[in-house]
Amino acid sequence: MPYGYNGKVLHVDLTAGKLEVEELEEAFYRTYLGGSGLGMAYALKLIPPGADPLGPDNVLVISLGVTTGAPISGQSRATATAKSPLSGAIGDAQAGGFWPAEAKGAGFDAYIIKGKAKEPVYLWVQDGEAELRDAAHLWGKVTGEVQATIREELDDAKIEVLQCGPAGEMGVRFACIISMCNRAHGRSGMGAVMGSKNLKAIAVRGHQRPEVADGKALTSLARWGAQNFPESDIYGMGVDGTADVLAYQNESGGLPTRNWSSGVFEGYEAITGAAMSNSILKERDTCYACVVRCKRVVETEWQGKEVLPQYGGPEYETLATFGSYCGVDDLAAVAYANQVCNMYGLDTISCGATVAFAMDCFEQWTCWPKGRPGPVSASARGRKTWSWPSRATTCRPTCRKSSAAWASSTPSTRLAPTTSRQSTMAPTKGTLRPIRIAWACWTCGRHSPRAAWAWKRSATRPIPSNGTACSTASTSANSSMARPGSSTIPTSW
Ligand code: SF4
Repeated sequence: MPYGYNGKVLHVDLTAGKLEVEELEEAFYRTYLGGSGLGMAYALKLIPPGADPLGPDNVLVISLGVTTGAPISGQSRATATAKSPLSGAIGDAQAGGFWPAEAKGAGFDAYIIKGKAKEPVYLWVQDGEAELRDAAHLWGKVTGEVQATIREELDDAKIEVLQCGPAGEMGVRFACIISMCNRAHGRSGMGAVMGSKNLKAIAVRGHQRPEVADGKALTSLARWGAQNFPESDIYGMGVDGTADVLAYQNESGGLPTRNWSSGVFEGYEAITGAAMSNSILKERDTCYACVVRCKRVVETEWQGKEVLPQYGGPEYETLATFGSYCGVDDLAAVAYANQVCNMYGLDTISCGATVAFAMDCFEQWTCWPKGRPGPVSASARGRKTWSWPSRATTCRPTCRKSSAAWASSTPSTRLAPTTSRQSTMAPTKGTLRPIRIAWACWTCGRHSPRAAWAWKRSATRPIPSNGTACSTASTSANSSMARPGSSTIPTSW
């Protein structure tokens, strides 16, 4: 058996209700190294072409890394791999915590989930033994309730539970898989895949530890890491969590703000990692054997609603999406949004970005509900530097509702009326002022991380030549922009 592994993977056929153990040779592990390698190998082998991501043909692989379970900082990771309901391509998402180390100790290197159960079930694995159990009583329950119920009915408080929340059950395409109620396999909709299979949870308990080649060297390496951590470059991440980078992002103009209409948020100081450490932080949490302790545990209330320590605390990404991306500088509000996502199994990045996009559409009158009054003036909303697109003869191209108007418009009217904000980062140039333009894919509606400075206004935006040309559309759009110093600065708005 190769060092670091159990040499076995568990195949779970939910349609047939069968469990099978496959034993693997060392050559396989050396070819498909790590949790991501294992997950990708099985996804490519088992998912048929054209499989519906939310259908029984899709295969969900939860796989563990070679060092998972060893006493080294930062190694307790699991990867969830399947065909993504968001992109239609292979998606994978990783998370840490204690579930990965416990799952390795339970005797398997990967859990391969196929088919679809007739009724909701959960998988229970303990020291090499596995069984499917009824989960009807867990269906629709939030993550904290599910974890507590499983631990109670199996009578072991140390069981680790990986689960899809109600969002996954309902097929929300950015639903995540979550363990410990706060460690999320966030990206690419893996929770929706899990929910589509009627698999509510995978509960694990294990006492095996992987064999390593040189235990003494590993122990001394781990000790060296612990001793030298305070002098390392990532010490700040331990003190203030991943939110430690938020202030730097803001300084460099890379903090997503108001649906990426800016990279600078005037209220950033209220949502930094330091602000959290000095206010609502209850304690620092960690993953198996990790000395960094970057995980946040917060306790507060927002508008009379409790924010519980069980659901952790916001990471940088959550602070950026529910905070600056939405123009929110209320830390308790962001912590509450984080809790709701962790309770229901929603990816905080996609969820926050979706809310920001909806806010932007709403404010720009492109998705205004019928019968509602029009947008109030910028000054009435307290946004002194917010400016409205003055020639939005077509709706914003990222708004699906506007696609017909967009397609029938002429190139000269195809503005990309992304909101613009006067820069605090760049100088003015005569009567022109620098604005930051953010782009979103016209086809899929998702925002491109690419943004650029332009003088006064953006140029026209071409229609993508095919239905999936996200990157092509973004690239060509960006290349047509006038940038500061460019001789092609548009002179009329
Ligand atoms: S505590 Fe932070 S640094 Fe350590 S393994 Fe967990 S996520 Fe990684």
